[in-house]
Amino acid sequence: PAPASAPAAFDPQALPPLRDVIARFGLEARKSLGQNFLLDLNLTGRIARSAGLPAGTTAIEVGPGPGGLTRALLATDAVKVVAIERDRRFIEALQDVVEAAHGRLTIVEADALTVDPEELAPAPRAIVANLPYNVATPLLLGWLARIESYVSLTLMFQKEVADRLVAKPGSKAYGRLSVITQWRSDARVLFNLPPRAFTPPPKVESTVVHLTPRANPEPADWRALEQVTAAAFGQRRKMLRQSLKSLGSAEALLEETGITPTARAEEIDVAGFAALARAFRARTPLGPPPERP
Ligand code: SAM
Repeated sequence: PAPASAPAAFDPQALPPLRDVIARFGLEARKSLGQNFLLDLNLTGRIARSAGLPAGTTAIEVGPGPGGLTRALLATDAVKVVAIERDRRFIEALQDVVEAAHGRLTIVEADALTVDPEELAPAPRAIVANLPYNVATPLLLGWLARIESYVSLTLMFQKEVADRLVAKPGSKAYGRLSVITQWRSDARVLFNLPPRAFTPPPKVESTVVHLTPRANPEPADWRALEQVTAAAFGQRRKMLRQSLKSLGSAEALLEETGITPTARAEEIDVAGFAALARAFRARTPLGPPPERP
């Protein structure tokens, strides 16, 4: 017999086809909520398996929609799945999956931008999601700030955003998002999907990215790093001695960090920006943290 902690067998194909669920509940996609569904269970299975969740992990899914990826996650070694969905229409439509999951699936009706997944799921936890593209970047930044609390994040982005997450210095896509992402995490591209993989198809290509917490991130203050990268990449064609002027002490920051004043933002690696953030933080007392919206 299976050990008591092993999840109950779950057959993602045993439930009604997703197209039937969509027809029965009248779930036409809403553009304003970034709804592009994955209806091919082979594909959702591939995404769920690519997360490589260790047994006993709780999977957090943002935006289960009609539940294709949710079903696939229930077929992995995840001990539980917690799915956060903002669109009430799906809550009812997902009840069949909740029942079939025998206690392993919890649906939370909420805006993922305002909930803390750590409060919904015990460690070890991981996030796996086909993200709504209109809020994908703010969601990612919120999770990155606390990435040490997650085993991994396996996320579908539009390809152009995924390219920025993993871009290296010297490339066109390298910018603030690359620095902040790679400061906190090891991020790698798993695979791309064409628009036709989704219903309705989005206008752009999509990419699944896998992020794990970086073992030893360079010490730096999040807000100082944000300010330094905003100044540097805000004028990315200018030399740093010019673009960092808005920070008040460009020459001193560059001298203290040993960075060539004539270098441009896209030449500076993550360690360089972390050093700039530390030097900036040491000279500039930060005000109180901004109020949450
Ligand atoms: N996981 C489903 C799939 O792969 O077919 C749906 C993915 S669809 C790209 C994005 C989902 O996120 C939709 O179900 C949408 O309603 C939901 N969503 C959009 N904004 C959200 C938010 N702020 N909080 C939680 N869910 C949201």
